[in-house]
Amino acid sequence: MELIFSHIEHLSTTAYPGRPCSVVHTHGCPLTCIYCTAEDTGAGRAETQKLVELFEEGKELIDAVAIAGCEPLKQEASLELAAQLKEKGFDIKIHTTGYYPDVLEKVVDEGIADLVEIEIKAPLDTERYAMVTGKEDAAEMVFQSLEVLSSSQVPCRITATLAPPVFSHEDLPELVHALACYGLGDLKLRNYTGGDVKDPWVMHSYVEAPSQQRRCSMLHREVIG
Ligand code: SF4
Repeated sequence: MELIFSHIEHLSTTAYPGRPCSVVHTHGCPLTCIYCTAEDTGAGRAETQKLVELFEEGKELIDAVAIAGCEPLKQEASLELAAQLKEKGFDIKIHTTGYYPDVLEKVVDEGIADLVEIEIKAPLDTERYAMVTGKEDAAEMVFQSLEVLSSSQVPCRITATLAPPVFSHEDLPELVHALACYGLGDLKLRNYTGGDVKDPWVMHSYVEAPSQQRRCSMLHREVIG
Protein backbone atom coordinates (compact mmCIF):
# COMPACT_ATOMS: atom_id res chain seq x y z
CA MET A 1 0.00 0.00 0.00
CA GLU A 2 1.24 3.51 -0.82
CA LEU A 3 1.62 6.16 1.85
CA ILE A 4 1.30 9.80 0.83
CA PHE A 5 3.69 11.91 2.88
CA SER A 6 5.04 15.44 2.89
CA HIS A 7 8.49 14.76 4.30
CA ILE A 8 10.62 12.48 6.43
CA GLU A 9 12.89 13.49 9.31
CA HIS A 10 15.58 10.87 9.62
CA LEU A 11 16.59 11.85 13.14
CA SER A 12 14.56 13.75 15.70
CA THR A 13 15.43 14.01 19.37
CA THR A 14 12.11 15.58 20.35
CA ALA A 15 9.29 13.80 18.50
CA TYR A 16 9.37 10.70 20.73
CA PRO A 17 9.89 11.65 24.39
CA GLY A 18 13.31 10.54 25.56
CA ARG A 19 14.15 8.63 22.39
CA PRO A 20 15.91 9.46 19.16
CA CYS A 21 13.51 8.58 16.37
CA SER A 22 12.62 9.07 12.73
CA VAL A 23 9.46 10.90 11.78
CA VAL A 24 7.27 10.50 8.74
CA HIS A 25 4.91 13.42 8.19
CA THR A 26 1.90 12.15 6.29
CA HIS A 27 0.08 14.35 3.83
CA GLY A 28 -3.58 15.33 4.01
CA CYS A 29 -5.74 16.58 6.84
CA PRO A 30 -9.49 16.75 7.42
CA LEU A 31 -9.18 20.06 9.30
CA THR A 32 -8.53 23.57 8.04
CA CYS A 33 -7.04 25.29 11.07
CA ILE A 34 -6.86 29.05 10.79
CA TYR A 35 -3.10 29.04 11.42
CA CYS A 36 -2.18 26.12 9.20
CA THR A 37 0.50 26.30 6.52
CA ALA A 38 0.61 22.58 5.76
CA GLU A 39 -1.00 23.05 2.34
CA ASP A 40 2.23 24.67 1.22
CA THR A 41 4.18 21.44 1.49
CA GLY A 42 4.60 19.02 -1.38
CA ALA A 43 3.62 15.36 -1.27
CA GLY A 44 5.56 12.21 -2.03
CA ARG A 45 4.37 8.63 -2.31
CA ALA A 46 6.06 5.41 -1.35
CA GLU A 47 5.11 1.81 -0.69
CA THR A 48 5.08 1.22 3.06
CA GLN A 49 7.53 -1.65 2.61
CA LYS A 50 10.02 0.75 1.02
CA LEU A 51 9.66 3.10 3.98
CA VAL A 52 10.28 0.24 6.38
CA GLU A 53 13.48 -0.58 4.50
CA LEU A 54 14.50 3.08 4.70
CA PHE A 55 14.00 3.24 8.47
CA GLU A 56 15.81 -0.06 8.94
CA GLU A 57 18.90 1.52 7.41
CA GLY A 58 19.00 3.88 10.39
CA LYS A 59 18.47 1.22 13.01
CA GLU A 60 21.86 1.74 14.60
CA LEU A 61 20.70 5.21 15.60
CA ILE A 62 16.97 4.91 16.02
CA ASP A 63 14.59 2.25 17.23
CA ALA A 64 11.42 4.33 17.23
CA VAL A 65 9.37 5.98 14.51
CA ALA A 66 6.78 8.73 14.89
CA ILE A 67 3.99 8.76 12.33
CA ALA A 68 2.72 12.30 12.38
CA GLY A 69 0.55 14.76 10.46
CA CYS A 70 -0.97 16.50 8.94
CA GLU A 71 -3.25 13.58 10.02
CA PRO A 72 -1.84 10.06 9.72
CA LEU A 73 -5.10 8.30 10.59
CA LYS A 74 -6.68 9.66 7.40
CA GLN A 75 -4.71 7.04 5.48
CA GLU A 76 -5.05 3.30 5.93
CA ALA A 77 -1.43 3.05 4.81
CA SER A 78 -0.35 4.68 8.10
CA LEU A 79 -1.70 1.69 10.02
CA GLU A 80 -0.04 -0.71 7.62
CA LEU A 81 3.27 1.11 8.02
CA ALA A 82 2.96 1.09 11.81
CA ALA A 83 2.23 -2.64 11.86
CA GLN A 84 5.14 -3.42 9.54
CA LEU A 85 7.55 -1.33 11.60
CA LYS A 86 6.35 -3.00 14.81
CA GLU A 87 7.14 -6.35 13.26
CA LYS A 88 10.69 -5.11 12.68
CA GLY A 89 11.02 -4.14 16.33
CA PHE A 90 10.46 -0.39 16.15
CA ASP A 91 8.42 1.41 18.79
CA ILE A 92 5.71 3.53 17.21
CA LYS A 93 4.26 6.87 18.14
CA ILE A 94 1.10 8.08 16.40
CA HIS A 95 0.56 11.84 16.46
CA THR A 96 -3.05 12.65 15.62
CA THR A 97 -5.60 15.45 15.68
CA GLY A 98 -8.09 13.01 17.23
CA TYR A 99 -10.46 13.44 14.30
CA TYR A 100 -10.73 9.71 13.58
CA PRO A 101 -11.71 7.99 16.86
CA ASP A 102 -12.79 4.78 15.11
CA VAL A 103 -9.40 4.43 13.44
CA LEU A 104 -7.67 5.32 16.69
CA GLU A 105 -9.60 2.55 18.41
CA LYS A 106 -8.28 0.13 15.79
CA VAL A 107 -4.73 1.36 16.39
CA VAL A 108 -5.13 0.80 20.11
CA ASP A 109 -6.90 -2.56 19.81
CA GLU A 110 -4.35 -3.92 17.37
CA GLY A 111 -1.44 -2.81 19.54
CA ILE A 112 0.38 -1.04 16.72
CA ALA A 113 1.25 2.09 18.71
CA ASP A 114 3.41 2.35 21.81
CA LEU A 115 2.50 5.98 22.34
CA VAL A 116 -0.32 8.17 21.04
CA GLU A 117 -0.21 11.94 21.06
CA ILE A 118 -3.34 14.01 20.43
CA GLU A 119 -2.92 17.63 19.48
CA ILE A 120 -5.67 19.87 20.86
CA LYS A 121 -6.22 22.79 18.51
CA ALA A 122 -8.67 24.96 20.44
CA PRO A 123 -10.70 25.13 23.65
CA LEU A 124 -12.73 21.96 24.00
CA ASP A 125 -15.95 23.70 23.19
CA THR A 126 -17.91 22.67 20.09
CA GLU A 127 -18.35 26.16 18.69
CA ARG A 128 -14.84 27.46 19.32
CA TYR A 129 -13.23 24.22 18.14
CA ALA A 130 -15.24 24.49 14.92
CA MET A 131 -14.20 28.10 14.48
CA VAL A 132 -10.49 27.25 14.70
CA THR A 133 -10.52 23.96 12.78
CA GLY A 134 -13.26 24.59 10.24
CA LYS A 135 -15.09 21.37 11.16
CA GLU A 136 -18.29 21.43 13.15
CA ASP A 137 -17.82 17.90 14.47
CA ALA A 138 -14.12 18.26 15.34
CA ALA A 139 -14.62 18.70 19.11
CA GLU A 140 -16.96 15.70 19.24
CA MET A 141 -14.38 13.57 17.43
CA VAL A 142 -11.69 14.68 19.90
CA PHE A 143 -13.95 13.79 22.85
CA GLN A 144 -14.46 10.34 21.37
CA SER A 145 -10.72 9.92 20.83
CA LEU A 146 -10.00 10.93 24.42
CA GLU A 147 -12.55 8.33 25.51
CA VAL A 148 -10.75 5.69 23.43
CA LEU A 149 -7.43 6.58 25.04
CA SER A 150 -8.81 6.76 28.54
CA SER A 151 -10.06 3.19 28.33
CA SER A 152 -6.88 1.81 26.73
CA GLN A 153 -3.55 0.81 28.19
CA VAL A 154 -1.56 2.64 25.53
CA PRO A 155 0.42 5.56 26.97
CA CYS A 156 -0.73 8.88 25.63
CA ARG A 157 0.09 12.54 25.85
CA ILE A 158 -1.85 15.62 24.92
CA THR A 159 -0.39 18.66 23.21
CA ALA A 160 -2.27 21.94 23.23
CA THR A 161 -1.32 24.72 20.85
CA LEU A 162 -2.11 28.05 22.48
CA ALA A 163 -3.03 30.61 19.85
CA PRO A 164 -4.42 33.75 21.50
CA PRO A 165 -7.00 35.12 21.23
CA VAL A 166 -8.78 31.98 20.04
CA PHE A 167 -7.04 29.67 22.55
CA SER A 168 -5.19 31.20 25.46
CA HIS A 169 -3.99 30.48 28.99
CA GLU A 170 -7.44 31.52 30.21
CA ASP A 171 -8.83 28.38 28.63
CA LEU A 172 -6.41 26.10 30.47
CA PRO A 173 -8.44 25.45 33.64
CA GLU A 174 -11.36 24.15 31.58
CA LEU A 175 -9.05 22.05 29.41
CA VAL A 176 -7.27 20.56 32.40
CA HIS A 177 -10.58 19.73 34.06
CA ALA A 178 -11.87 18.11 30.86
CA LEU A 179 -8.72 15.99 30.50
CA ALA A 180 -8.87 15.03 34.17
CA CYS A 181 -12.40 13.71 33.59
CA TYR A 182 -10.85 11.24 31.16
CA GLY A 183 -8.03 10.45 33.57
CA LEU A 184 -5.54 12.03 31.16
CA GLY A 185 -2.95 14.41 32.51
CA ASP A 186 0.20 14.38 30.39
CA LEU A 187 -0.42 17.80 28.84
CA LYS A 188 2.26 19.59 26.90
CA LEU A 189 1.76 23.20 25.83
CA ARG A 190 3.06 25.03 22.81
CA ASN A 191 2.67 28.67 21.91
CA TYR A 192 1.68 29.79 18.49
CA THR A 193 4.03 32.68 17.79
CA GLY A 194 2.94 33.70 14.34
CA GLY A 195 1.25 36.86 15.60
CA ASP A 196 -2.37 37.75 15.10
CA VAL A 197 -4.35 34.63 14.21
CA LYS A 198 -6.69 36.27 11.75
CA ASP A 199 -4.94 35.57 8.50
CA PRO A 200 -5.23 31.86 7.63
CA TRP A 201 -1.96 31.93 5.74
CA VAL A 202 0.37 33.56 8.27
CA MET A 203 3.69 31.82 8.73
CA HIS A 204 3.85 30.17 12.11
CA SER A 205 6.38 28.83 14.53
CA TYR A 206 6.09 27.33 17.93
CA VAL A 207 7.92 27.63 21.22
CA GLU A 208 7.50 25.72 24.44
CA ALA A 209 5.29 27.43 26.97
CA PRO A 210 7.04 26.89 30.33
CA SER A 211 5.05 29.30 32.50
CA GLN A 212 1.70 28.00 31.32
CA GLN A 213 3.05 24.46 31.63
CA ARG A 214 3.84 25.06 35.30
CA ARG A 215 0.42 26.58 35.87
CA CYS A 216 -1.16 23.65 34.13
CA SER A 217 0.72 21.14 36.29
CA MET A 218 -0.51 22.94 39.40
CA LEU A 219 -4.08 22.89 38.10
CA HIS A 220 -3.78 19.23 37.30
CA ARG A 221 -2.58 18.47 40.82
CA GLU A 222 -5.58 20.42 42.16
CA VAL A 223 -7.99 18.45 40.02
CA ILE A 224 -6.79 14.88 40.37
CA GLY A 225 -4.27 15.16 43.19
S1 SF4 B 1 -4.46 19.76 12.08
FE1 SF4 B 1 -4.73 21.90 11.51
S2 SF4 B 1 -2.64 22.76 11.61
FE2 SF4 B 1 -2.43 20.52 11.52
S3 SF4 B 1 -2.23 20.04 9.36
FE3 SF4 B 1 -4.41 19.87 9.85
S4 SF4 B 1 -5.26 21.88 9.33
FE4 SF4 B 1 -3.03 22.12 9.49
